[in-house]
Amino acid sequence: AKVTRLGPSPTGFIHLGNLYGAFADERLAHQSGGVFYLRIEDTDDKRYVDGAVETIIDSLRFFGIQFDEGATRSGDVGDYGDYTQSHRGPIYQCFAKKLVSEGKAYPCFLTEQEIGEIRTQQEEEKVTPGIYGRYARCRDWSFEQVQEALQAGRSYVIRLKSDGREAVSEKSGEDVTVRRVEVVDAIRGRLTMPENFMDTVILKATGIPTYHFAHVIDDHLMRTTHVVRGAEWLSSLPVHVELFEKLGWEMPVYCHTAQLMKLDEQGNRRKLSKREDPELSLDYYRRQGYHPEAVREYLLTILNSDFEEWRIANPDAPVDEFRFTTEKMSSSGALFDLNKLNDISKDVLLKIPADRIYEFLSDWSREFAPEYSNMFEDREYMLKILDLGRGDKKPRKDLIYARQIVEFISYFFDKQFRREDPLPAEVPQEDVNTILSSYLSTYDHSDDQSRWFDKIREIATELGYAAKPKDFKKHPEEYKGHVGHVSTVIRIALMGRAQSPDVWTIQQIMGEEKVRARISDYME
Ligand code: GLU
Repeated sequence: AKVTRLGPSPTGFIHLGNLYGAFADERLAHQSGGVFYLRIEDTDDKRYVDGAVETIIDSLRFFGIQFDEGATRSGDVGDYGDYTQSHRGPIYQCFAKKLVSEGKAYPCFLTEQEIGEIRTQQEEEKVTPGIYGRYARCRDWSFEQVQEALQAGRSYVIRLKSDGREAVSEKSGEDVTVRRVEVVDAIRGRLTMPENFMDTVILKATGIPTYHFAHVIDDHLMRTTHVVRGAEWLSSLPVHVELFEKLGWEMPVYCHTAQLMKLDEQGNRRKLSKREDPELSLDYYRRQGYHPEAVREYLLTILNSDFEEWRIANPDAPVDEFRFTTEKMSSSGALFDLNKLNDISKDVLLKIPADRIYEFLSDWSREFAPEYSNMFEDREYMLKILDLGRGDKKPRKDLIYARQIVEFISYFFDKQFRREDPLPAEVPQEDVNTILSSYLSTYDHSDDQSRWFDKIREIATELGYAAKPKDFKKHPEEYKGHVGHVSTVIRIALMGRAQSPDVWTIQQIMGEEKVRARISDYME
């Protein structure tokens, strides 16, 4: 059984990549009968945002992510807590002390200025920057020297005393062979990379651990078997390998997920960025009202190479039945594409019954768009609207996400109704009133669709419009326009739009009263 965890930093920002990681964590754990827990990684107090932990828990729950253990809204659940890193100071300090006493880490008293000087020196000598033996004088200080510095009240950090050897440029003339470390990443396979040679800080001057140290300690103590995290951590892997070695612990299996990429205007791939791309944030999908299932299917489609095939073979299966295998998770950057998400969303919504879409939309409106709350007052009415055309042989797929849906169906509601499109150019203004008043006087709400259309054809021919578009095309000189232009006038009066689902069906949903009111309103 696998034990996985999500370790978000409570900065108030959760992105799509975190969500994908959470899906992978959740599936890998639960498919194997294991445990998935939430750990709050709040050691970087500068970035801490109030209420962010609740936001994280709520948004993940919205997208269907539930934790078995870890930090929850009402405290810790599980035997390996505390699950909030800022509460674990003494644990990290204890292990740091142990490493120091074993000569595997050391207190470093270098000041900012001294570090700056070391950097300059390293630049001059053309060696890769990093604090390394012969530069950091306190690295090999005696007990007495350390004691003295402590008594003088000098501030210090704890650094790992790396055994690694840096690559030294040919110029410096030193003959150093860089050793390499080998790690098997469950997504990427065997990776070999130059070993770590940096005396990385493990405890800051405040006694607070860095990410490197804290996650190694926690993943060990909390029995994590699989660490799923973003590719941005790949370059720190050698540091983590060395930390596990020095602590004498077995490494968990690392799974580095792919970065989300986007095509820029020049067609080059670039990473999605928090600043430039609002759609990187999970919040974006909640505000727009994407259904969580759609987002989930989408992420699986772009990040798991075997998902689309599975979906085709199992069109109606709940997405939780899909088996996550790390080998099929994408390792190269996945191309992010909103149009693709929208296409997937249309299919996903088509499978969800109207009453569940109704609940989803009304929850969304309550939270993000109260200006649409009137739409949810008459549930039966809304259900008919949401079901419109969905049962057809070739079903209509015009529901995508909440904000788009409420706009799309806005003409059914007087409060939201706006006339958006102009009248067809073929119909002169003096005909508009004639068309509409004949329409009103012959209107019978109980007419079936063909009887209804016959009446429109009559109105059209009486006014000199062709009964069939193709007659008008053949002899444009004989007619003002055709029946389609006449029915567009009715459409505009009723719905404010030149394009819409079938008018007769819409009228059946709207009811006679609204139909008559809209038409009379439009007449001069
Ligand atoms: N706190 C890290 C982050 O927010 C988590 C990385 C990890 O999962 O190890 O990116």
